[in-house]
Amino acid sequence: MSLTDIWVNTFGIEPQIAKLCAEVLVECKDKFDSIDEIASINQLKVLSAMQKNRLSESHFAYTTGYGYNDAGRDTLESIYADVFHTEAALVRPQIVSGTHALSVALFGNLRHGDTLLCVTGAPYDTLQGVIGIRETAGSLSEHGIYYKQTELTEDGMLDFEAVKTALEDGVKLVSIQRSKGYKWRKSLSVTDIKDAIDFIRSIDKDVIIMVDNCYGEFVETIEPSDVGADLVVGSLIKNPGGGLAPVGGYIAGKRKYVENAAYRLTAPGLGAEVGPGLGVTPKMIQGLFIAPTVTAAAVKTAVYAAAVCERLGFETLPHSKDIRADIVQAIKLGNPEAVTAFCRGIQAAAPVDAFVTPEGWDMPGYDCPVIMAAGAFTSGASIELSADAPMREPFIVYMQGALTFEHGKYGVVKAVNELQKRR
Ligand SMILES: *Cc1c(COP(=O)(O)O)cnc(C)c1O
Repeated sequence: MSLTDIWVNTFGIEPQIAKLCAEVLVECKDKFDSIDEIASINQLKVLSAMQKNRLSESHFAYTTGYGYNDAGRDTLESIYADVFHTEAALVRPQIVSGTHALSVALFGNLRHGDTLLCVTGAPYDTLQGVIGIRETAGSLSEHGIYYKQTELTEDGMLDFEAVKTALEDGVKLVSIQRSKGYKWRKSLSVTDIKDAIDFIRSIDKDVIIMVDNCYGEFVETIEPSDVGADLVVGSLIKNPGGGLAPVGGYIAGKRKYVENAAYRLTAPGLGAEVGPGLGVTPKMIQGLFIAPTVTAAAVKTAVYAAAVCERLGFETLPHSKDIRADIVQAIKLGNPEAVTAFCRGIQAAAPVDAFVTPEGWDMPGYDCPVIMAAGAFTSGASIELSADAPMREPFIVYMQGALTFEHGKYGVVKAVNELQKRR
């Protein structure tokens, strides 16, 4: 039996949907080849960092307690620093999420009276609480840190004039968000980020430039740290964990800024010297090893979803033919029924909890119900095939992930099958 036959006969896909999906698969071939090329380059970057740091079996030992002299942890961090071409990195299971990593980097490097400037519009929802844009106990704002923000222009670029004005008032740290978050905007490519950094540096050579790199790692062959970012920050249950890291975050960058973050994560005076691997280190290392190919699977799934949905007449961002800057695919579905159907299709295609029916719910931190489809091996891991949508106009679904393209491909077919049934 062919793949299309299995879709139809075993998985109950409508024959005309299966036919369309099979055609689109062929049309995407060139795009997929270029994604594989990026993965090959990134695979060698990771491999050489592991070889250079003389990774060995002894680094996989289980450590507990204070974690003094944890060679596995230290080696993992050196490998990250080499992959991102930075002086230092902090990569820990004690960092529980991307938000936590970003929070640690900000609190570690900002002091009372300093100003934080976000130049890519309102930051990711959970960061708004950290900063205190949304009144939140323990926020940077409560600690006397000022906040300024400049918006993105119509074409999704920085408002350079506004950034210049903001910088002239004195800013300690500039934050750039690479990925779109729950927004209908272009994600910034590393080249876009380079232009932004060059401009910021031309006005203030000392300001700390941090990039929220969530969802962007390994999508291109260079990272924001290759074009002048002082700090890059992300989550290990997204791209760089390769689907194997069960928890964790990373902060890579200039040594003094990474150290400041470490003093915040543990305690002043202790910093990165403490913090046991608790058996997680081998998974983080192996996850990093496969992260380039896992990320490529996610990017191919995103391209395929865009191409199929475009054939059905939906607006997509990015377009299937666009160059990718992250693994997120936004699709404007236009009504709540379509969003629900799409998410239910993604859920029904999952290896875990496929029998569950997702519903919109009032998630903390959001101003409307949010529907989420995720049948993941690691709870909340969005490098695994997942889709979510705030239930509000114009009803956009954001999907990302798939550990393998073979699975992501089927997820897309199943999601559009459910979508078309309810149209
Ligand atoms: C996911 C994400 C975060 C937060 O990461 P969590 O691990 O969910 O806390 C921050 N910024 C962006 C752009 C993200 O995509």
